[in-house]
Amino acid sequence: MFDYHYDLLTEVYLNKNNIPKLKEYYSKVYTKDNITGGIFNLFFMSEKEMEEELGIQKQELNLKEMLFAVHKIIEENKLIPEGIKYVYGIEGLDYLEKIDDVEYLYKMGVRSTNIVWNNENKFGGGSKASKDTGLTVLGRKLVEKLVETGIIIDLSHANEKTFFDITDYLSYLKEKGKNIRVIASHSNAKKICDVPRNLTDEQLLTIKKLGGIVSVVGIKRFCKTGNIDEVTVGDFLKHIVYITNLFGGTKQIGIATDDMKYYPTNKEYYDKANLFGIRDAKKVLPNTESKPPFCVKEISF
Ligand SMILES: [Zn+2]
Repeated sequence: MFDYHYDLLTEVYLNKNNIPKLKEYYSKVYTKDNITGGIFNLFFMSEKEMEEELGIQKQELNLKEMLFAVHKIIEENKLIPEGIKYVYGIEGLDYLEKIDDVEYLYKMGVRSTNIVWNNENKFGGGSKASKDTGLTVLGRKLVEKLVETGIIIDLSHANEKTFFDITDYLSYLKEKGKNIRVIASHSNAKKICDVPRNLTDEQLLTIKKLGGIVSVVGIKRFCKTGNIDEVTVGDFLKHIVYITNLFGGTKQIGIATDDMKYYPTNKEYYDKANLFGIRDAKKVLPNTESKPPFCVKEISF
């Protein structure tokens, strides 16, 4: 499967002194019968959360330097097995200093970005920001730059106002003949599980109309509300069936692990937050030798 969302770059950054072990791990994960490609993200929250949850200090928070550092480690150590198709993603552009830095991101291999994570930043509002926070003037410039550069806009994490501000603008740019690329890399159907990170039918259909991909994720709290110990793979599959019916097919549906076991804090919580992780992604694919019944469309690079 192609994993539409995994914070591999953050994992590499956090384990930069433990590369041989990570390499051995990835050689077991990235295989032809498990995960064959993905969008590998560097993930950003507020300064406080970065420090408290990931142990990344304020003075380290430099997007370009962090991206360069992990890219160098990946390349020099041949960290990802040969034949695996991957691009980089940035989840949360809070630390993008200027719009033109998007060109640097592209040069380094970034092909997908979440403009916002859950918090509010200078570009827009995430799912925990105020309902009235939408795409800012600077955010609009950023969207235009991302489209022009050829970077996918990932709508997972945006609040509804920011989501529709972005998609309205993308529709306009599409009508003007621009080549827009949009996904929601790790969100499920709100109709089945009503949490802020999931998408309403209107949002799902907007992505479909724009030619994008909605990638369902095995995070238990996004599959079913209530006790996470009772969530099953069947609950996850319900989202795939629901969106398949809504879309009239599987062509625009993907799968994401968003495996969070790499988190250095709250181990107990993150260890059981997902139904399947990068190591056992094939658990959800009934027959991985052939095409899974819900086809995973790979991004054309
Ligand atoms: Zn996320």
